[in-house]
Amino acid sequence: MTTFNSKNNHARLTINRDAQEMLDRAREDNIPTVWDRLAAQEPQCGYCAMGLSCRNCAMGPCRVDPFGEGPQKGVCGADADIIVARNLGRTIAAGASAHSDHGRDILETFHATAEGKTSGYRIVDHEKLKTLARERGIAIDDRTPNDVAHDLAEAMFEEFGTRKESLDFLARVPKKRRELWQKLGITPRGIDRENVEMLHRTHMGVDNDYVNILLHALRTSLSDGWGGSMIATELSDVMFGTPKPLLSRVNLGTLKADHVNIALHGHNPMLSDVIVQAANDPELVKLAKAKGAAGINLVGLCCTGNELLMRRGIPMAGNHLMQELAIMTGALEAMVVDYQCIMPAVTEVAKCFHTQVISTFDKAKFPGAIHVTFDPNRGIEIGKEIVRRGVEAFANRNPERVRIPVGSMPMMAGFSVEAILAVLGGTPAPLVDAIKQGTIRGAVGVVGCNNPKIPQDYGHVVLTRRLIEKDILVVVTGCAAVANGKAGQMVPEAAEQAGPGLKAVCKALGIPPVLHMGSCVDNSRIITLAAALANYLGVDIDQLPLAGAAPEWYSEKAVSIGAYVVASGIYTVLGVQPPIFGSRNVVKLLADGLEGVVGAKFAVEPDPEKAAVLIRRHIESKRKALGLPHIAPESVRAPEEALHAGWPAS
Ligand code: SF4
Ligand code: SF4
Repeated sequence: MTTFNSKNNHARLTINRDAQEMLDRAREDNIPTVWDRLAAQEPQCGYCAMGLSCRNCAMGPCRVDPFGEGPQKGVCGADADIIVARNLGRTIAAGASAHSDHGRDILETFHATAEGKTSGYRIVDHEKLKTLARERGIAIDDRTPNDVAHDLAEAMFEEFGTRKESLDFLARVPKKRRELWQKLGITPRGIDRENVEMLHRTHMGVDNDYVNILLHALRTSLSDGWGGSMIATELSDVMFGTPKPLLSRVNLGTLKADHVNIALHGHNPMLSDVIVQAANDPELVKLAKAKGAAGINLVGLCCTGNELLMRRGIPMAGNHLMQELAIMTGALEAMVVDYQCIMPAVTEVAKCFHTQVISTFDKAKFPGAIHVTFDPNRGIEIGKEIVRRGVEAFANRNPERVRIPVGSMPMMAGFSVEAILAVLGGTPAPLVDAIKQGTIRGAVGVVGCNNPKIPQDYGHVVLTRRLIEKDILVVVTGCAAVANGKAGQMVPEAAEQAGPGLKAVCKALGIPPVLHMGSCVDNSRIITLAAALANYLGVDIDQLPLAGAAPEWYSEKAVSIGAYVVASGIYTVLGVQPPIFGSRNVVKLLADGLEGVVGAKFAVEPDPEKAAVLIRRHIESKRKALGLPHIAPESVRAPEEALHAGWPAS
């Protein structure tokens, strides 16, 4: 396999010193990483990159020649527009299904908890339980929390079914937007229904109108954002606590050389939350000490890490591209995985060290891992079993191979919608006033993954820096949040990096200019906040000076997120080119025509400096339309010298 043998290459792969140092080790020990495997794939298939290949049936696989010389239609007669739209629709269905199945898993545990059948779970946030019950007209007076929770769970199971006209959470959406969705025929009716229908429509010989396919793709994504993801977020809050601002730490320096280190990786907080309880078990702590460790240290990776960071302050070892590198510290006794974004490669890297990879969900098995089937009815017992395995693996650690790079960085997290409103004094009024006056120009959600096609964290960090210095509040989720944390943008002192207006607001409130709102499913918090602001002002979401960005996205889930954010009325800039450029019509619709349909559209801009300019122009144009003080959008330009400043040295 090709490996990146030049040390100088590392700055082109990642902007982080901890990752660069681990890449040195990978090179020295000849351990392939995600970057090596990407290099081995190059050149990647151009047809697939443009969305022009189809293998939806056995008459294919087919491809359409983008240069017009080869075939222009698949065997069935599908042209570029149909093939690209079908592929995009299926991608969104896969992403929406991943989020929504996560939501269903949480819901099933919530239901079992309400019936008293689980171990290690309880109803923690009674206020949120009541709010969710009230939203659905479920009686709460003189009833136990478990009874209310039971009825709420039953109502939410209905959201996955097929016999409703719209999802319950749509009550949070401004009336104008709901009417628009109704007019367009994209009101999400049931979570499973929209995903199944997307797969049906994209079977050969069903929906052959690319516009019609894409409209249903939007509906499918809405069933994720205002359905599956929202259920996951809200019920996790009820069971594990609604996040409040807290301080923690981030990067590989959160691993401790003298402790048993256990990393929790994936997305679902159900198992990891009981592991936090198990790691505090006096007997297991005693066992760790008997093995020569000073204690048990839990760290997070990806969105399971974000869930634990937001609610428990568990430190975050890294984001998506750090998962292999965390094992290479030689200090990790166990990597406990649930599902999503866990590279199959981790078990191969683990073979080079003493690390045990422990898989836990029967729907996500990893050859080479130890599998411990998770069962919420025995949650604590299983949590203890897993922690015990990690503690026992400490004896196999070779201290001479331990290499923990750099010190950890402090970061603030825990900004749920409730926490943001609490910081503001219980009402969005101060934020709205600051936006009206122009102290804060607008707000942007910078979200999503890492992708080895972009120097790790470069897109997130540079875009965020350019936005906050122009007085734009940034809210973050997922792996983007970890990038910002590592870059020191998520502590109250980072207010110094913001423009004068945002800086003053942050200093007055004691908050960073970049607010961590949670995991990937918690993008539902961002749209909930956007809807609350719109409702407060009596406008639709698309009228607000808001934007979204996914500078380093890789996942199908990110495509679903981008689609529901745009369908909800928020302009979104992608940093990685999606596979749609084989169809001019699809690109034209998504990057232009959609504006006239849902009031928002996509843009693709890999350079975060230029992406910041696009977003600032958009925000100023929204300010202008609302009659707020604004800078002429067309005059918003990046200073020439700013372009490419901060690009890693070659
Ligand atoms: S659905 Fe059409 S384009 Fe796709 S593989 Fe079958 S014949 Fe080819
Ligand atoms: S942001 Fe992307 S890479 Fe990170 S955990 Fe979420 S989906 Fe996975």
